[in-house]
Amino acid sequence: MRKHIRCGRLFTGLSDKAERDQTIVINDERIDYVGPTAGAPKAAPGEQMIDHSKHFVLPGLIDVHVHLAYGNCKTEEDIDLYAPVEFRALRGLEAAQRVLKAGFTSICDPATSGLVSPSIRDAIEANLFVGPRVSASGPQITNRQGLTDWYPTWIGVPSTAIGVLCKDAAEGIAEIRKEVKDGVDFIKVAMDGDSMNPTSSTLTAGYNQEEITAMVREAHRLGKKVVVHARGDEATLYSARAGVDVILHASYMTERTLEEVVKSGAMLCPSYLLLVNNIDFTRPGDGAYPAFPDAHKRELEAGAKIHTLGRKAGVKYLVGTDSGFAITPYGEWHARELETFVKYFGFSPAEAIKCATVNNGSFVRHAGHVGSLEKGRFADILVFDGDPLADISQLQDRTRIREIFLGGDTVTHEVNPKAHRLRSEFSYQMWNEVYSQERIAELKRQSTRQAAE
Ligand SMILES: [Zn+2]
Repeated sequence: MRKHIRCGRLFTGLSDKAERDQTIVINDERIDYVGPTAGAPKAAPGEQMIDHSKHFVLPGLIDVHVHLAYGNCKTEEDIDLYAPVEFRALRGLEAAQRVLKAGFTSICDPATSGLVSPSIRDAIEANLFVGPRVSASGPQITNRQGLTDWYPTWIGVPSTAIGVLCKDAAEGIAEIRKEVKDGVDFIKVAMDGDSMNPTSSTLTAGYNQEEITAMVREAHRLGKKVVVHARGDEATLYSARAGVDVILHASYMTERTLEEVVKSGAMLCPSYLLLVNNIDFTRPGDGAYPAFPDAHKRELEAGAKIHTLGRKAGVKYLVGTDSGFAITPYGEWHARELETFVKYFGFSPAEAIKCATVNNGSFVRHAGHVGSLEKGRFADILVFDGDPLADISQLQDRTRIREIFLGGDTVTHEVNPKAHRLRSEFSYQMWNEVYSQERIAELKRQSTRQAAE
């Protein structure tokens, strides 16, 4: 049975404008007609008429950087060590449902434990559960200077981690072949680390040019795209030259490296939600304070400059959020990345929405079927009360969401407000500091002083 949606304003993703007096006709899970109401096919008796003539209608949003296995973690150990992989899969499914309720009808997960995210993808695709369309990598391929090899060498990278230590191109290629056999949608390589981590403080590339080039060639030969994590210049440069498909972050790339990125056609996905949330929300008392937010202020400053140049140079930008940390919890802040695109990189709100829909849609598993509102595409639609073209930050307000269509069906699933965390899911820090006699005396002096004031 067809559904006829009257749209107050319609943003299809095909232009920068939202048109008035438009209608979308959905037939089963796909769009049958998009255009002026005057030209729309007439509703046959019994067909459903849906009136959103007071609302703003746009394609379902897409977030290409959501880590379903992380569980809103507070520490690296939470990510890699705690909670059985089986529990993470169930928890990640619920996380995916939260992201969907925020208006994101497709997501990508670059880096997971075991086969957690491909399994969530398959469970949703088999209609066992409601959830967004998921594209998934396996664990990320990493080396000594990359992410995930955080622990002392005598501990190593545990099998439950979200990365696999591959010490050279041969090991990387073997891992790529295994992951492709296991059904991943794309390959993720951690080309460098994080400026905060003591083992990778200098942000050098974990693989040399020949190694990453060989791995990318093999992934492409097997028909899979490659996404890399690269915050530093060297890792970004090698990645661009190797012909990777997506570079996450690229914050410290130089203008010379940007030229290589332009030449290679790689897409960039800064994923700065983690930075801006960390800068804005981390408080004294948080273990990360103040070093981590300070590092992110420096990264944001560098990234704002180079990504503004990247936008002007015509690089194709993707919207991703690095959701799954305690500072970027599922379903909460995804749309804030679009505000970051406007505020720091100079995109117009319409362009930012197109990055999160059309551009993101060109990368995901269902490329060509999602990302814009066109005849023949999946009816993944967000109905919104407001005008995100006037104020992009409105998209963060979930109370403005009037309806979400996923493959033509209205999303009615509610997340359980009673969901909570279990002790067994996480590592725990018992004390913030060492309570020596001297420290206790100092604390006493402080409180006497405060009482006297
Ligand atoms: Zn990430």
